[in-house]
Amino acid sequence: MREKSDPRKPSACRSCGAQVLWATTTLGKQTPLDAEPVPDGDWILAFSAKLFRLSVTKWRPGEDPARRRYTNHFSTCASADQHRSPKASSR
Ligand SMILES: [Zn+2]
Repeated sequence: MREKSDPRKPSACRSCGAQVLWATTTLGKQTPLDAEPVPDGDWILAFSAKLFRLSVTKWRPGEDPARRRYTNHFSTCASADQHRSPKASSR
């Protein structure tokens, strides 16, 4: 059964416990972003009510400056190494 948790609500990173948002990249992968927007973030999020998911795209100059920008959690996670070996933490 699939979880229907709201992707707009932050959840705790399994490695470090920080609040992260899970979003889907253009490649269809799930990636965590820091839940707190930052002024110089590299990523922007868009919520699709139809797909019920967040999608993440690279920030580009010319985007609406009012949009919130985010940092990929991989670059800030205290336990980033664990993210790179997903099999190590599978049940
Ligand atoms: Zn983390």
